[in-house]
Amino acid sequence: MNRRQWLKAAGAAGIMTALPNPLPAASAQHAASKASAINMATVNLSIKRLQLRHTWTTTMSSSTYRETVHLAYTRDGITGYGEGAPIIRYEEYPAQAKLALEAIADKIAAGDPARFDSFLADIRRQLGEHQHAAMAAVDIAVMDWVGKKLNLPLYQYFGLDPADAPVTTFSIGIDTPEITKQKTLEAAPYPVLKVKVGLKTDEETITAIRSVTKKPLRVDANEGWTDKDEAVRKINWLETQGVELIEQPMPAHMFEEVKYVRSKVHMPIIADEACTSTGLIPKLKEAYDGINVKLDKAGGILEAYRWIKMARALDMKVMLGCMISSSCSCTAAAHLSPLVDYPDLDGNLLISNDPFEGVKVADGKLILPSRPGLGLKVLG
Ligand code: MG
Repeated sequence: MNRRQWLKAAGAAGIMTALPNPLPAASAQHAASKASAINMATVNLSIKRLQLRHTWTTTMSSSTYRETVHLAYTRDGITGYGEGAPIIRYEEYPAQAKLALEAIADKIAAGDPARFDSFLADIRRQLGEHQHAAMAAVDIAVMDWVGKKLNLPLYQYFGLDPADAPVTTFSIGIDTPEITKQKTLEAAPYPVLKVKVGLKTDEETITAIRSVTKKPLRVDANEGWTDKDEAVRKINWLETQGVELIEQPMPAHMFEEVKYVRSKVHMPIIADEACTSTGLIPKLKEAYDGINVKLDKAGGILEAYRWIKMARALDMKVMLGCMISSSCSCTAAAHLSPLVDYPDLDGNLLISNDPFEGVKVADGKLILPSRPGLGLKVLG
């Protein structure tokens, strides 16, 4: 029996009537788009200019404002908010991040947040290299949405106790000794300070701070020293000044030199610029005592969680940092802070026009909002 004969016989037996009537092509298309429109999210993208309270200087740049990329993800009447701060060090810029997100906005809108693991992995592949901040904006917004949908604050989703959120540092940017003293006095509510070093003025900076406070200090050289013996001398001096740890004393590529420095000093050395992916962490353990996890480097909450777990599996210290950003990104990071040793989440405290209210700091301790998702309030 050929196919035509079989169909004729089947039709006679009533089989054909059991099959659904095929819709005309146009109607079928309309039904499909109607169905997907019901299940699609709305994605809104913007760049927000965050004004700094003080001109911010590190070894890399000096500025009075920073721009971050924001993404609002609305579905089923719920809006999740995300933010990413592109890091110039990794060749990431706000305008390019927003363009990259615009190019795949339809895919973000069509993804299924109930299957966020594969959905966000797919978005990560689509964004490609040098779009970690863009990825962070998507990941944070979707995870805020998921938390709100489940009616759980994100720390609870991760099984964490907000009472375990440790004391955070407050950063003092590089400045003249007089302004450094003034900034140190303004930081009175914070029990631990973080200081940017890596310039010729390091000793003046630390001396200025020490003239007004005895608080523990953590320092960040942002790859500032290129001579390993100079780095050893500087760190040995910092060890006499009540400094607890140092971040990235030498450029990320000077791996062997950092190993040498570690053999000559006592304080923990934390990898920041050198730590850019989960896969690098086991190698970093040879030269560093810990890593600085940032959502803007990892590409969001889920990947930052993986970095933390990888470091912990290797018995490494974990710092949880942020870029200068609003309470959106800082609060997202703060939900993971019960897992870390050294939170450094003050990016939102350094700006004067925060569009959100979220994590708070009381006596230096991070206070996580208990509302669902990130728990943000939108201020405007
Ligand atoms: Mg750093």
